[in-house]
Amino acid sequence: MAEIAPHLSEWRGRWKGDSPLLLKPGETEQVARILAICDETETEIVPQGGNTGLVGGQIPTRGEVLLSLERMNRIRSVSVDDNTLIAEAGVVLANAQKAADQAGRLFPLSLAAEGSCTIGGNVSTNAGGVNVLRYGMMRDLVLGLEVVLANGRVLDSMRGLRKDNTGYDLKQLFIGAEGTLGIVTAAMLKLFPKPAGYTTVFVAIADVDVAVELLHRLQEATGGLVTAFEIMQRRALDLVFKHIPGTVDPFPSHSGWTLLIEISNPSAFDATEALEQALARAVEEGKIFDAVFAKTARDREALWRLREAIPEAQRLDGASIANDISVPLSRIPDFIRSGEKAVRAVLSEARTFTFGHVGDGNLHFAVQAPGHDAALLAARDGIERAVQDETAKLRGSISAEHGLGLAKNEAIARYRSADEIALMRELKRTLDPKNILNPGKVLPAA
Ligand code: FAD
Repeated sequence: MAEIAPHLSEWRGRWKGDSPLLLKPGETEQVARILAICDETETEIVPQGGNTGLVGGQIPTRGEVLLSLERMNRIRSVSVDDNTLIAEAGVVLANAQKAADQAGRLFPLSLAAEGSCTIGGNVSTNAGGVNVLRYGMMRDLVLGLEVVLANGRVLDSMRGLRKDNTGYDLKQLFIGAEGTLGIVTAAMLKLFPKPAGYTTVFVAIADVDVAVELLHRLQEATGGLVTAFEIMQRRALDLVFKHIPGTVDPFPSHSGWTLLIEISNPSAFDATEALEQALARAVEEGKIFDAVFAKTARDREALWRLREAIPEAQRLDGASIANDISVPLSRIPDFIRSGEKAVRAVLSEARTFTFGHVGDGNLHFAVQAPGHDAALLAARDGIERAVQDETAKLRGSISAEHGLGLAKNEAIARYRSADEIALMRELKRTLDPKNILNPGKVLPAA
């Protein structure tokens, strides 16, 4: 029981599960055998990687068997010529990054949970993170998959081809499926040239409206080398200074929005000067107030820490309602304004603590009500509904990168057409006719 307990609740403690059995296979053949038995006995099963998912998808909430992939943690191969790496599902993301680095290549997926989340979980949630602007989401980084189907058969698409138009691209079905269509046992991942260095800068901006224009300017100035373009509301950063020891405020007198911008420089040239000039022009125009460049690797780490510690600081501060949404880039300022208004209409004490990936139109629109935690949690449904409705008005998505899991599987019925939901159900029936794979997640109850 002591061994199973950590697998039954998730990071924020929102979902608590229950399971009679935890299985930890070490080989694909063992996963195949387990699934064949589950198929025969109609036993429901929930796959789990690093248990860092934020929508409850990895938690067995109806007494299912729990399948942890953590022992499948081998890097099977790295090919410098093909620019590929094959990782088993339980490889921790940071270890996949390290293996690529040791081979002189870059695996660019990067997120704050990279020390615990796994490649299988990253594939199954189509994880995003801070480098999507330059390299895309997990869907763009997968060249092939090994998947165990609900009946125990193994589907192997690890051909590693960058061009392959032989019919439907089946691997894509399992990417972002949150374990409801098959169990990912290994993935062939795309590698990239390693940047020669980074230029990282923290920027205090006049108003959220300038963020998108600044992004486009900097892309133009640097020839598209902007890798990360993160935005942080003052309130969200203040939580970091309050709760995370050793963090220092680069702009103590600035009360508005802050950006963390990073470019990755190729070995042939350094785009720092171009970035500095573009930022200096923006200062002259009054669009930005101040900029602090990282001078050393430690400075860079410290600036990234401010951004990446926001979720942890929020958790330490008390109750919060996380909303992971995306809207077209041009509508980000509209959404921030109308979203905050809609949230306060539900609970007047509520405040947004926004941060996110501007370049992807993806905001983590967290809502807190300091001193009123109970009222906030009681208003959860109304607040989530208000945020989702505002997102939909701007033709956005109610889940940009975390998925649906148990958190939004009912809500999705309001924002996807009946035809889309019906087609998703057909897919589920085809691939999992006995509904044994992560049942009750992703799709609304029938
Ligand atoms: P788990 O949490 O174990 O599982 C997630 C889902 O995938 C579940 O539905 C599970 O059933 C399924 N699953 C897991 N392994 C398999 C498998 N082998 N086969 C089939 N299904 C499987 N996410 C982002 O996209 N971007 C971010 O920037 C980001 N930042 C985060 C920051 C923090 C502090 C935390 C705690 C989380 C963050 N996340 C982020 C969310 C989370 O880290 C990702 O969703 C991650 O991809 C989950 O990986 P995992 O191994 O922990 O999967």
